[in-house]
Amino acid sequence: MSWLTEFVRPKIRTLLGRTDVPDNLWHQCPACQQMIFHRELDTAKKVCPHCGHHMRATAADRLNWTFDEGSYTRIDLPKVVADPLKFRDQKKYADRLREARETSKQEDALLVAHGTIGGHKAVVAAMESSFMAGSMGAAVGEGLVAAARLAVLQAAPLIIYTTSGGARMQEGAISLMQMPRTTIATQMVKEAGQPVIIVMTDPTTGGVTASFAMLGDIHIAEPGAMIGFAGPRVIEQTVREKLPEGFQRAEYLLEHGILDMVVKRAELTATLTRLIALLTAHHKAAA
Ligand SMILES: [Zn+2]
Repeated sequence: MSWLTEFVRPKIRTLLGRTDVPDNLWHQCPACQQMIFHRELDTAKKVCPHCGHHMRATAADRLNWTFDEGSYTRIDLPKVVADPLKFRDQKKYADRLREARETSKQEDALLVAHGTIGGHKAVVAAMESSFMAGSMGAAVGEGLVAAARLAVLQAAPLIIYTTSGGARMQEGAISLMQMPRTTIATQMVKEAGQPVIIVMTDPTTGGVTASFAMLGDIHIAEPGAMIGFAGPRVIEQTVREKLPEGFQRAEYLLEHGILDMVVKRAELTATLTRLIALLTAHHKAAA
């Protein structure tokens, strides 16, 4: 790779208004439009080195970044009834599921793994936004219950990375039932004396915000993450008022007491390590 292709070509293409730069080589920051070389982006954990914009990350990225040396054991999640309502809109739900599985190489919108974070054992559940917008159906609900059970069994904290468009409409009432189920899941971990730490990433909305995402002991969000229940347009139409600047963004929510902290991705693992050490200290003292 020469200096010319690495650094000059994308700029020229940008000037010419062309965007056909190979995806695997360069990324354009959606916030500042600057071009970033993919290796640089990987090292920066998908954070723009120019403006600090936190780009969306996959569930696998989350696990790799969170666990010590990127080493962890994934657990198989319970199988659920596929397409219980035989739902179809423009497309059959069964087809949507198949396509999402092919592109994401995941069974559904959640991965669960266990390992250590800063030397402390932990269970991590991470949602995948590219899988049907990270929507929560029975599989995600069952997966979170499985994650909670594992945390109880291992006497380990549960860390959940959320990113979701909300309940999965193709599963109707069954997706709504996952709200109480995931609520119970977080409760199980707390009753076992283990902390539940929620890391909200962009975007966290709908039924996920209205259930387990707001039920952690500690609520962390990534900078700039959109977090809310209904979208801003729906709220504006309902309350007939203009919403304030930055409404539903992590920083605004921190100021208004919804979140405990907004943490940059680069500092997240260190923060989690510190929190786990603080919140589980009483177990060590008692032992
Ligand atoms: Zn940027």
